[in-house]
Amino acid sequence: MPNQLTTALLEFDKAHIWHPYSSMSNPMPMQLVESAAGVYIHLSDGKKLIDGMASWWSVIHGYNHPALNKAMLEQSQKMAHVMFGGLTHEPAIKLCQNLVEISPDGLDKVFLSDSGSVAVEVAMKMAIQYWQAKQQPNKHQFLSLKNGYHGDTFGAMSVCDPVTGMHHLFAHSMMKNHFSESPTCKFHDDFDVSSIHDLEMKLKTHHTQLAALILEPIVQGAGGMKFYHPEYLVAAKQLCEQYNVLFIADEIATGFGRTGEMFACQHADISPDILCVGKSLTGGYMSLAATLTTDHIATTISNSEASCFMHGPTFMGNPLACAIANESIELLKATDWQANVKRIEAFLTQALLGLIDCESVADVRVLGAIGVIEMRDAVDMASITSAFIERGVWLRPFGKLIYIMPAFCMSDIELGVLCGAMVEVVGLA
Ligand code: PMP
Repeated sequence: MPNQLTTALLEFDKAHIWHPYSSMSNPMPMQLVESAAGVYIHLSDGKKLIDGMASWWSVIHGYNHPALNKAMLEQSQKMAHVMFGGLTHEPAIKLCQNLVEISPDGLDKVFLSDSGSVAVEVAMKMAIQYWQAKQQPNKHQFLSLKNGYHGDTFGAMSVCDPVTGMHHLFAHSMMKNHFSESPTCKFHDDFDVSSIHDLEMKLKTHHTQLAALILEPIVQGAGGMKFYHPEYLVAAKQLCEQYNVLFIADEIATGFGRTGEMFACQHADISPDILCVGKSLTGGYMSLAATLTTDHIATTISNSEASCFMHGPTFMGNPLACAIANESIELLKATDWQANVKRIEAFLTQALLGLIDCESVADVRVLGAIGVIEMRDAVDMASITSAFIERGVWLRPFGKLIYIMPAFCMSDIELGVLCGAMVEVVGLA
């Protein structure tokens, strides 16, 4: 039974607080969380849910992790924040060293920012400033992929899928960019070279106006949870070089091991010109993101007439967030995360693939620590969420997709409960 305080909190929430993509007049049911530890979310009514979402890809080591807590506490006793203009500090320096070390080769200049969307804005601004510096200011548009998703700010919205990207209401206020068909060649199938033809045509037609191609390598996330072939990335990178267009990899969702490689670009053994990371950068503790680029791009921008890169958020390089991010990367380095992701991949494959025989299911796919059930019809989010809560799990389906991306430390027993609930609920649909 909810107590008085819980009821009052939820009432205030309902009356006054926006949640992501939500309506104030017809809000979705809301769960009040009291705490979270490991892979469990504890609700105020005493329920304990196994979290299948890792808080939207971010909580890779589990909640309330002793090492991350310690890093946060120790840093908070030194300084929680200090401005990054004219001042620098060890947590940010170490983080940039870490990022340069683990990211694909050649990315050794780092811009720290506050969130994934901002990291994408920064990447787009870098590409525009680069071509201005090269005396080609006409190259200021972007090419991206249908079903792509890159964030909610205006620049980022302008490269999201114009239909599935959740931003069509703003179409008239956005930059006009170009879109290629989304890759049709699935990750596990043989590569079909024809899947790159549309991208090639778009590059051929528009390259004189294009600053960059931006895409999510291997996994198109919020735009459909689709996994495509590494050879597509190899070909896309080659075409960008051929047509003199920069290549931006948005690894905000895929970075830090989720797909089975530290970065999804590494499935294809390519290095982008610009890389965006965020989400699990701090193990899901705080909002922090980074945009990495090459020495050539950074130097070209810096030696231009503008002479500097034009961005500088207040909370740039926040020491608390950087200290936690360093610890999160240390945890990855210290554990066999890749074996864990492989174990989860094998478990999800074995537990979920049989659902393909259900009439209501259109497709089931697994890559790394990501499991996706694509239904034939859109699910009713409120009723399916409550069916999962009854079974002790936290999932947040959208559209036709019921998907999980658990913390890498989730045990086989917990995975069994999670997948068991999915199988049961999908079986009822
Ligand atoms: N790019 C990708 C691939 C994402 O998945 C997201 C977040 N869903 C973003 C960018 C935007 O990140 P944020 O929500 O931190 O602004």
